[in-house]
Amino acid sequence: MSFDNVIGQHRVKGILQRALSNNRVSHAYLFTGPEGVGKEALAIEFAKALLCTGDDRPCDECANCRRIDAFQHPDFNFLFPSSAKNTDEERAILDSIMQNPYNRKKPWASPTIGIEQIRELRHLAVLKPLEGRRIIVIAEADRMTVQAANSLLKLLEEPPDTMHLILTASQVNSMLPTILSRCQEIRFGPLPDNEIELALVEKMQQAPEKARLIAGMSQGNFRRALQWMDDRFTKSRNDAVEFLRACLKGQKTQIELVEDMAKRYDKKQIKDILSLLLIWFRDALLLSEGGPEQRLVNIDQMETLQKFLGAFESIDFYAASAEIEKSMTMIERNIHINLILLVLMIKLQKIMKLRGR
Ligand SMILES: [Zn+2]
Repeated sequence: MSFDNVIGQHRVKGILQRALSNNRVSHAYLFTGPEGVGKEALAIEFAKALLCTGDDRPCDECANCRRIDAFQHPDFNFLFPSSAKNTDEERAILDSIMQNPYNRKKPWASPTIGIEQIRELRHLAVLKPLEGRRIIVIAEADRMTVQAANSLLKLLEEPPDTMHLILTASQVNSMLPTILSRCQEIRFGPLPDNEIELALVEKMQQAPEKARLIAGMSQGNFRRALQWMDDRFTKSRNDAVEFLRACLKGQKTQIELVEDMAKRYDKKQIKDILSLLLIWFRDALLLSEGGPEQRLVNIDQMETLQKFLGAFESIDFYAASAEIEKSMTMIERNIHINLILLVLMIKLQKIMKLRGR
């Protein structure tokens, strides 16, 4: 009963393990916390533990464990936001969850969980399970429409004895209080860097140095870590450094670079580049204060970082970080990206004072 397939989250695992061994499993759980920290992954493992016939639950070997792993257990239902009309797309999403719950494929047009999906679920919920228990996972339950949530409420008010419901959500604020009050909330925190690093080495076969670098960039989110694993990382970091260089150049170069970036990248990618820039400044600050090198994220860029520091008379790191963070929030709010980037460049230019000027 170790939930080894799930990264970190030892406190949460402990709560669920105790519930299992004391046979006091709740009828409705709500797993809350940021994205990419393993809420769905643990929901699946917990479902396995509830139906496992092995000694060490979940054993990963018995027929029930394997059928849940393949999403083919008749007593296990996994629901997620979907338009419900496109079954091919649904299958593709389920397949991606099956392969890696941390890195599931998301539909393009972020749909909601509609009342039809919940109605269907309520029919299922009352069917007699084959193995004594029915486990229903609703991923991203915070995307239920109000009608869907109200329909689910009826099920929560009188849950069948055999049913265990696990909801996951990252935006609890948008959920009906009446739903929240009927679920046992289990809070997931961001993953510590060292857990992500270990998982990248052990589960994803990354080289230790690269794993540390990616862990430092992923802000406690394993999904982000997986996205950084490809070459995009090196490319984005080069873009971040290029952006920084352009801050010191004339306006024409700056405008050209910004236009080029806005053309090549979407909002999310530009935010990633800015978060790399943020980490760059953090590393530079650490280095300038003589902090331990092991704590640098861009450990492979020591020389460039030193050169960067050497070029300036003074840098107000806190002001620079604040400006970058502000720009990231503004991008979120859909303000014209070119303008945000250009203003950021001009501000950073003022904050960083070149030597001999
Ligand atoms: Zn098993």
